[in-house]
Amino acid sequence: MSGEALTAAGIRAAFVNGEATASAICRAALDCIAERNGPLGAVLRVDEARAMARAAALDRAAGTSGAGPLAAVPVLVKDNICVEGGVTTAGSRLLERFVAPYTATAVERLERSGAIVVGKTNCDEFAMGSSNEHSAFGPARNPWDLSRTPGGSSGGSAAAVAARMAPLALGSDTGGSVRQPAGFCGCVGLRPTYGRVSRYGLVAFSSSLDQIGPIALTVRDAAAALGAMAGLDPRDATTSDAPVPDWAGAMTGDVRGCRLGVPARLLDGIDDGVRAAFGAALEVLHSRGALIRDVSLEHASLAIAVYYVLATAEASSNLARYDGVRYGYRAAGAADLRGMIERTRTEGFGPEATRRILLGTFVLSAGHYDAYYAKAQRVRALVAADFADAFRDVDVIALPTSPTPAFRLGELVDDPLSMYLADVFTVGASLARLPALSVPCGFTPAGLPVGLQLAGRPFDESTILRVAEAYERDTAFWRVAPSGA
Ligand code: GLN
Repeated sequence: MSGEALTAAGIRAAFVNGEATASAICRAALDCIAERNGPLGAVLRVDEARAMARAAALDRAAGTSGAGPLAAVPVLVKDNICVEGGVTTAGSRLLERFVAPYTATAVERLERSGAIVVGKTNCDEFAMGSSNEHSAFGPARNPWDLSRTPGGSSGGSAAAVAARMAPLALGSDTGGSVRQPAGFCGCVGLRPTYGRVSRYGLVAFSSSLDQIGPIALTVRDAAAALGAMAGLDPRDATTSDAPVPDWAGAMTGDVRGCRLGVPARLLDGIDDGVRAAFGAALEVLHSRGALIRDVSLEHASLAIAVYYVLATAEASSNLARYDGVRYGYRAAGAADLRGMIERTRTEGFGPEATRRILLGTFVLSAGHYDAYYAKAQRVRALVAADFADAFRDVDVIALPTSPTPAFRLGELVDDPLSMYLADVFTVGASLARLPALSVPCGFTPAGLPVGLQLAGRPFDESTILRVAEAYERDTAFWRVAPSGA
C-alpha cells in the first residue's frame, strides 16, 4: 500500500466501502508495529486485546449506523495520555507500573469518532525534552536516519507515523513537542489553541502551556483528528466553548490575498538546508496568491528564557505529587516518611526532570520569585502582545519549525541549554496560546525532513489549516516515505 491508502482518510474509506474490515485494518497495524518498531523504539507497548475488541465491535456495527469520521483508523497515543486499564508511564520510572483509572477526554472522543487505539508511544520523561533521549525507556529513533533523534518530547508518536505504523498519533505540545518532532520526522503536527482540546487525562507538565495535538501524514487527517477532539469539556475548566468549525470545509485550497508574516530577523544563523526549504515553501505559497510580509516579533529572543522559567516553575509544582505515597513508584528501605519521599523522588526522576524541578523550585522560591517567576509572567505578556500586534497586519506567521534538521542522538544530551534552543521557533506560539502547525516542506541536502511552521490567531485553526493544506496540494512531501516504511 502507498499514498492515500495509508492515510486516515484512506483507511476510513476502505472500511466504509467494505474493502476492508476494521479487524483486518487493526491486525495490519499491529503486524506493522511488530515488524518495524524494533530499531525505532517508537512504540512502548501495544494493547492488542483492547484494540482487536474495538475493531470487532466496529465490524459488528458496520452498516447499522453512520460511520464516524475516524472509523477504523488505528491511532497511537503518547504515553503521557491516559487510556483506562493500560499502563501510562509518561516516559518515567516513577509511573512504570501506573495503570490509568480513566481515559483522557481527547482519546475518548477519538474513539467515539471510530478510531482504534492500538498502543502507546515513547516520549521524554514527563514530556520534558526535545530529543526523546530523556525517556526512561530508551530513546526513539528517527526513521529517516537511525543515528538521529526523532525530536521530542512526542518523538515516538512522530517516528511511528513517519514509519507508517499508524496514520495518526497523539502528542502533547507544551513548548513545541508536537510540532518539532513532526518537523524532524516529516509529519504534520498540530498544536491547537490553548483551551481547544481538553487536557483531562494528560499527565501534567506545565498546565498553562500543555495542549494535546495530533500528528498525521496529511493536513486533512490532522484536521479530522482535531475536529473529533475539540470542544468544551466539563472536566477541564480551561477548555473553551468557542464553536468548533467545519475544518474540512475550510480547506478550499484558496490562499489568494492571505497575508503571511515572516519574522526575517529571527532567521539569522539557521541551518542552510532549513533556510532553503523554508524559502522555497514561501515561494510556493506566493505563487498561489499569498502575500509575504515582514513582521517583527520584538521580544521573540526572550521567549526561550521565559518559557524555561514558567514551564519549570509549573512543573515543579505539578510533579510534587510523585511522593511515593499516593501512586507510582515507592522506594523501599527508608526509615521514615521523609526518607521514603526523598528516596522515591531521587530514584524515580531522571536527570532532566530533576533539573527542572530544581530550577522551577528556585524561580518560585521566596527570595527569587519577583526576579524570575513574576518577571517571566510579565515578559510572557509582551511576547503575546507582539503576536497580537503582528496579527493586525497578517493572517499567519510563518517560520521554520526548528532552526536545524534532526540532530544526532547524543549530540546535545549533555548540553541542556543548547537542547533548549531547539525550541526557539516553537515556544512563542505556546506562550501566546496560539494554534500552530508544522507541515513537511522538503528535505535538506542530506535528506532530512524540514518543517514549515504556521501560527494563527487564537481559535483560528481554520486559516493555518487552509494554508497548510493548499501548500500540501502543490508539494505533497508526505508521499515520500523513509526507507523501510
Ligand atoms: N522541548 C520542550 C521542553 O523540553 C518542549 C516540551 C514539550 O512541548 N512538551 O520543554
